[in-house]
Amino acid sequence: MSKTGIVYHEDMMKHECEWDTTHPECPGRFQSCLDLLKESNTLKKCHVLPSREATNEEILKVHSQSHLQLLENTQDGVDNLEEFSSHYDSVYFNAHTSRAAKLAAGCSVTLVEAVIQEKIKNGIALVRPPGHHATHNEFGGYSFLNNIAIAAKVALESYGLTRILIVDWDIHHGQGTQRAFYEDPRVVYFSIHRYENAKFWPHLRESNYDYIGKGEGTGFNINIPLNSVGCGDMDYIHIFEEILEPIAKQYIPELIIVSAGFDSALGDPKGQMQVTPQCFALLCQKLMKISENKLALILEGGYCIKALSHCVLASINTLLNFPLPPLPEQKQNVSQTLKDVSKRIKVLLKDNWKFDVSPLKSPTEIEEIELNVAKHCQDGPPFPTRDDYWPPVSETTMKMLEEVTEKLRQYYKLCNSYTNE
Ligand SMILES: [Zn+2]
Repeated sequence: MSKTGIVYHEDMMKHECEWDTTHPECPGRFQSCLDLLKESNTLKKCHVLPSREATNEEILKVHSQSHLQLLENTQDGVDNLEEFSSHYDSVYFNAHTSRAAKLAAGCSVTLVEAVIQEKIKNGIALVRPPGHHATHNEFGGYSFLNNIAIAAKVALESYGLTRILIVDWDIHHGQGTQRAFYEDPRVVYFSIHRYENAKFWPHLRESNYDYIGKGEGTGFNINIPLNSVGCGDMDYIHIFEEILEPIAKQYIPELIIVSAGFDSALGDPKGQMQVTPQCFALLCQKLMKISENKLALILEGGYCIKALSHCVLASINTLLNFPLPPLPEQKQNVSQTLKDVSKRIKVLLKDNWKFDVSPLKSPTEIEEIELNVAKHCQDGPPFPTRDDYWPPVSETTMKMLEEVTEKLRQYYKLCNSYTNE
């Protein structure tokens, strides 16, 4: 039996925006991943776990009863779903949303349980809708149920784990996950996200680096805000090596769960970053080394279908122990703003974790952040339900993506030809 698990259910494709067929969180995201995994013979190498909906008991570990009831009501109890959707920031509902959201959460729990029970070593939950923006009582950011938070709560409460590391490399800050564990030292929440001093969604002050947890959870919440677009492989490797790995080596997690959003990938119109699928393979390998392989990836965002499917492929192949594909050539310099943020984080966390700390520069941008947050916080219902933010990606970027994914496919073809002999 393969030691790498995968879990999914095709009913998750029935959740779609019926009044805007160009919506970025579309069923094609899921379909393209599955197609590429089949076409490359990757799916066959994985152990397919049985899918299921999350139980009410599991959902209520993170969400309120009224939140769950509102979700279930949208199956047949709401006349105008577009009007209903406008009460929430960036979500749409159809009659299948409730089942898809429960399947996404249930598949995430199944995966994490299988890793804890050592039925598999590692694996991926290929799920949608995403989850990390859903809070105790609110839908938002395409999220309805917080898949990763529910799975982590089950691991804590039903299996007695005491040290879980959640790595959130989706380009958006997972405020729902942060809030679920903000005072809980049994979970380190580590998020890398586009921030631009709160100009980027979800425009929250709490997404900045100085939100490090509260009470017993102080020092266990780590935010890495990216204040410029165009960050690439070297920036992400820098964050892993400078901050994540030192913390993880001291924390010694019993399990690592990843909010694996690939909207930080090269070619993604929302993220506008440049992380390659090859780099995600490397990041996966780094996490496998930290956790002696106990690693569960849960899909979040990713809106360039080509980038998304290839990032999923590269991640799974790494879980399957394929050798790492070489990193494509990119700019080698880590940005100065990121280096500054790294330093500030290390100083803020110095009572909790040991780092090789360099001298601190005093924070200067807090005022600008407060202004940006105040500006965006005036947004309230009704929220727009059409024409989602969708800036065009340059031809040069798409050409780079084409080259990078082609190299990746050739590389894995070669690996396959060796392993099939
Ligand atoms: Zn995202």
